[in-house]
Amino acid sequence: MSLKQIGEFGFIRRIQADCLVRPEGVVKAIGDDAAVFRPEPDRLGLVTADLLVERVHFLRDRISGEELGHKSLAVNLSDIAAMGGTAREAIVSLAIPEDCPLAYLDGFYEGMKKLAGKYRVNILGGDTTGSKADLTINVTVIGSVPEAQLLLRSGARIGDIVCATGQLGDSRAGLQLLIDGVDTGEEPWSMLRRAHVRPQPHLDEGRMLAAAGGVTAAIDVSDGLSSDIGHIAEESGVGVRLLAEKIPVSDALKTFCTRFDRGDPAVWALTGGEDYCLLCTISPDAADKVCTAFAEAFGRPLHRIGEVVAPGIFEVVGRDGRAIPLEKTGWNHFTQSD
Ligand SMILES: [Mg+2]
Repeated sequence: MSLKQIGEFGFIRRIQADCLVRPEGVVKAIGDDAAVFRPEPDRLGLVTADLLVERVHFLRDRISGEELGHKSLAVNLSDIAAMGGTAREAIVSLAIPEDCPLAYLDGFYEGMKKLAGKYRVNILGGDTTGSKADLTINVTVIGSVPEAQLLLRSGARIGDIVCATGQLGDSRAGLQLLIDGVDTGEEPWSMLRRAHVRPQPHLDEGRMLAAAGGVTAAIDVSDGLSSDIGHIAEESGVGVRLLAEKIPVSDALKTFCTRFDRGDPAVWALTGGEDYCLLCTISPDAADKVCTAFAEAFGRPLHRIGEVVAPGIFEVVGRDGRAIPLEKTGWNHFTQSD
């Protein structure tokens, strides 16, 4: 059976099951001109959208449908996490080329629904259309956050501690393995591949940080540590000093750099991108309390990687004590050629 045989409405009927994990808030989901739901009272609404284009954001022959479905939703959930929010509703639109097998699309929705179920996000609807060449995916996620807990990029103050909720650089190394056609069937390469194709949105971490008090700004790592912390610096009107030896990198990334002569793991961590963990700044008097609470809640550390300093300073201090200017260039879809 192909998409052509079942048609758009057949396809919608096929994907309709298990789209709602919280039907109580939904007046009308898939099947009308628009979805209708009840927004929550006393909270701020959050909306985010991401577009994933074949050959720009992913290579269809290197990622399974299930992984692509997971990732397409995960990158959006990560943006809600960076605001300290809870994700609630998703709208999913696809432009599907003729050569895309129905099984790949079934896998796509399977991966997406699994992640949506985990975070209790309803898939409320969307649009499907044909495409002349590439598979194109647009996901919009709606969420909310208690007003007093909203995390913006603009709240960092001089003296704040810069923290990261996870290890950095693994995803970019995983992408490199896929580009180079390395067999990723076994560890440690499978872990790096997984970091790239199945990133875990840090929604629970974002909520915890937002509710903890003392967290002044946050962003998720999509373009790369140096680029994304640069957004906080810019929006907050401050500078940032990172400590290279404090940037958390995995053993797998270290092995990757050694085995393939890929240089310093810290550089991969700084410029890699698509890690989808969170960076945050915490006021110095709250930092100990927040780090302890984070470790208790998640069983792993909140990594202190630097500090917020005066505007004009944007640097990373190496193991030898020398400061190197940080570049705000991370992953850039318009200039990157590989
Ligand atoms: Mg973001």
